[in-house]
Amino acid sequence: MTEFELIRRYFAAQTSSDGVVLGVGDDCALLQPPPGEQLAVTHDTLVAGRHYPFETAPDAIGWKALAVNLSDLAAMGAQPRWFLLSLTLEQAEPAWLEAFARGLHGLARQHGIALVGGDTTRGPQAIGITAIGSLPPDIALRRDGARAGDAICVTGTLGDAALALQRLAQSGDDDAALRERLDRPQPRVQAGLALRGLATAAIDLSDGLVGDLAHVLAASGVGARLDAGALPMSAAFERLHPPSQRLQLQAGGGDDYELCVCIPPQQLAEAQRRLHAMQLQLSCIGEVDSAPGLRWQDGLPAQPFSGYQHFG
Ligand code: ADP
Ligand code: MG
Repeated sequence: MTEFELIRRYFAAQTSSDGVVLGVGDDCALLQPPPGEQLAVTHDTLVAGRHYPFETAPDAIGWKALAVNLSDLAAMGAQPRWFLLSLTLEQAEPAWLEAFARGLHGLARQHGIALVGGDTTRGPQAIGITAIGSLPPDIALRRDGARAGDAICVTGTLGDAALALQRLAQSGDDDAALRERLDRPQPRVQAGLALRGLATAAIDLSDGLVGDLAHVLAASGVGARLDAGALPMSAAFERLHPPSQRLQLQAGGGDDYELCVCIPPQQLAEAQRRLHAMQLQLSCIGEVDSAPGLRWQDGLPAQPFSGYQHFG
């Protein structure tokens, strides 16, 4: 299979979205944003063995590569529109490509985002995606808008992916529900859209709650108190986590891909209502205050965990 056959077979014309004047096949894609809207642009790369275990199913790799980018669009409150795929592979193996494309395009269709171009190269397996969304001016959920008194809330549950990874490393023992959360995170795109106009700040949780929330606090020039007991657990997490490691997994573990948002008290009921309408839990886990830094309400050591850093 040549590079061009591969692109045609697995990546051209598999997904569609408004505003694609010209998609895969020319030197550039031509895209028409909705009139008056701004573009939200993000890029994340997944490297085999670092961002996902080597033995991850190829359809999960395709899914997750797009999911982590959709999660960034969600955290800005942007509507997903288009994406570009940089695919680096040791070899062009049809069964692998077929499954990878199924996972990738399956998630893309769910969110109405279209693949409009990319690059295909040979080398150690890595997948880079640039995702482009759009939104009206001045409504993006930025990191710098949190104010003292805002409630700190998270969607869904925390720690599942970190627990799945820990169990894989320790015993190879696989719990299906936890493994699903590691392999196939659900980007909270609808939640991000619903929180426009309500949240003062937002970030998606990729490197662990404490490290990611610290970015919001620093950008906003505020601090926070967190209630360790309020961190939401899934049923599988509740059943399987080692109690002594609950906080480490939930506050320090990565790969949650939930949203962490700051919401003024008077907007909280409406935010809860909108998320519950989409069957998504929104848990309040603390409060923004004006003293810099992050504290635990129950007096646990300050800053016990730092987020994942590649060159830390
Ligand atoms: P160029 O040499 O002009 O960069 P390429 O030969 O790299 O073009 O790619 C040919 C066309 O296929 C371009 O439109 C490019 O965007 C697209 N393309 C290449 N790889 C991928 C991929 N993995 N997924 C989607 N589109 C791709
Ligand atoms: Mg190229």
